[in-house]
Amino acid sequence: MAKAQICDLQQHLEVTQNLAKKRKNDSMEPAVVVKKSVCSAASASSKGVSSRPSIGVRSQYGVGLARAIHGTEARSRAVNCAATVAGVIGKKPRVAVTAPSIVQTAAVGSKKRPAWDLKGQLSDMKVQLGNMKTRVCEYTSKLEMSELQSRQLHESMDQRDKQLDAARAHINELQSNLKAVELLLKDREVELAKCQDENTAMQGVLENKLKMKEMELTQKVTCIEEQQSTIAEQRDMIVERDERLHCAEQERRRLHNTVQELKGNIRVICRVRPLLDSEREGLSEIQNVQFSASDEKVIILTKSEESHTGHDRKDEFKYDFSFDHVFQPIATQKDVFEDISQLVQSALDGYNVCIFAYGQTGSGKTFTMEGPDDMTCDTKGMIPRAVDQIFSTAQELKTMGWTYKFTASFLEIYNETIRDLLVTKPEKNVEYEIKLLNNKSKQLHVTNLKYVTVTMKDQVHNLIAMAKANRSVAKTAANDHSSRSHSVFQLQIEGSNSDRDLQCTSTLSLVDLAGSERLDKSQSKGDRLREAQAINTSLSCLGHVIMSLSSKESHIPYRNSKLTYLLQNNLGGNSKTLMFVNLSPLEENFSESLNSLRFANKVNNCVIGTAQVNRK
Ligand code: ADP
Ligand code: MG
Repeated sequence: MAKAQICDLQQHLEVTQNLAKKRKNDSMEPAVVVKKSVCSAASASSKGVSSRPSIGVRSQYGVGLARAIHGTEARSRAVNCAATVAGVIGKKPRVAVTAPSIVQTAAVGSKKRPAWDLKGQLSDMKVQLGNMKTRVCEYTSKLEMSELQSRQLHESMDQRDKQLDAARAHINELQSNLKAVELLLKDREVELAKCQDENTAMQGVLENKLKMKEMELTQKVTCIEEQQSTIAEQRDMIVERDERLHCAEQERRRLHNTVQELKGNIRVICRVRPLLDSEREGLSEIQNVQFSASDEKVIILTKSEESHTGHDRKDEFKYDFSFDHVFQPIATQKDVFEDISQLVQSALDGYNVCIFAYGQTGSGKTFTMEGPDDMTCDTKGMIPRAVDQIFSTAQELKTMGWTYKFTASFLEIYNETIRDLLVTKPEKNVEYEIKLLNNKSKQLHVTNLKYVTVTMKDQVHNLIAMAKANRSVAKTAANDHSSRSHSVFQLQIEGSNSDRDLQCTSTLSLVDLAGSERLDKSQSKGDRLREAQAINTSLSCLGHVIMSLSSKESHIPYRNSKLTYLLQNNLGGNSKTLMFVNLSPLEENFSESLNSLRFANKVNNCVIGTAQVNRK
């Protein structure tokens, strides 16, 4: 770009110079004519030479002038002219030789006068002088014209010179710019060459890498193909194993049930709670409850009474009982749950399962079923543990094609009235009625009760916590109300195995019964009496139902209490029942403990028919 600009300017300069030369030459012509007059031409020449530097056009101009001045023709003309003028005006001519020729020349064309005709000669000379003067005037005006033209030309030349200088400076600047650009260009070219080299090197490296990757890919593709065929083989094996696993699972369920049946479909576990810190005063150990070191099923209650025969002797009474398991005070929640976890498994296999805790107030029923108020992972009770197991086992059974739907509810029965523990602010006059959902399945349903579909164990734990909170609210309102009500947690389980078109439904019921202590009716009045009667009725009803089932009576009195009516499917032949009998270790509770053990013993001796799995 800069180069092109410079070229343009150079061309322009050349054209300008040529034009200037031409003009000068043109303008020289009249000067040459003018220079017939020696003085004016010489002065013009000397002026031009002295006032301008001898460069370019100006020097040529000077040389032109000099030539003109020294030209022979001009010189002779000038000399002649000077001589003539000098002769005419009477001054002594500097070149005397030329005078006659001038005179002669003046006389040419006119009549030749005789030598004596001086007057005539004088008038001729006057005429000649007049002519000469006219010519001199003409020359003078021409000379002035020429000088004016020459001045104008000088001015225009000066302008051109200035333009020329500016153009030259611009050209210099552009040339230096050009040089800088050229240098930059060179640098860039070097850089470019470097980059190109690097690119070539990089391309080589990349090509190598690409080749390596292609090779790797080919290897991997081969490997994948091999693995795919292995996977196909293993898939076949898995299908075969699934089939075997399913058969094994069915067999496990059958054997598991056989074991449960051998243990009896109604089982009793006895648990004696430890002494509380507040009860230890003066008592180092439990006095009236004994355990067998060799037999985990035996419990002995002892009582020493004043002998009828004398004051110094005491009669000791022993009451032995035997149950499925007797847990001593040191037993942990985990130990106890291990004993019932098989039963919880049965619920997932499609059997109705009912676990309830029986015992006087303060014997540890709530602790066993739910856990203490400040519950930790170690102290959580049977309900949360059963929920955890149900959900983790359901997850495992997923691999065998089983999917489960769980629905939870939590209610309490107080004075033969049902209250929903999953509702914090119950609406007034809501009726909770136990109804048969349909005749065929004999599934029961409580109207208006909240049944919550749960998909995660944490959801159930939250419901349990809510029920606990709702119960304790009532507790403050009605003075230890919880010990005089039954709380029933139910989890409905619906399992289906779509691969094998199998379905099973069951209900797991976990019940914390009201305190079994007998109140002194003579001292109880009003609400307290009604409460006691209600508890007595429902607990003795429970006993009657179990006895009737055991003796295979045609009529089972389920309808005699809300509790037995609600639990009828869990107490019948088609279910597995487990009863905790909770005991207080305190001597003062001896008679209540004895009563509880007697009730439990009756239950333990019952044999309830064989449970059937609820399959469709
Ligand atoms: P209930 O529900 O039968 O009235 P609780 O479960 O409320 O009795 O137990 C009464 C007290 O004894 C509670 O303070 C409880 O924490 C405590 N307790 C019960 N069983 C145990 C146990 N196995 N270990 C430690 N403390 C227990
Ligand atoms: Mg309780």
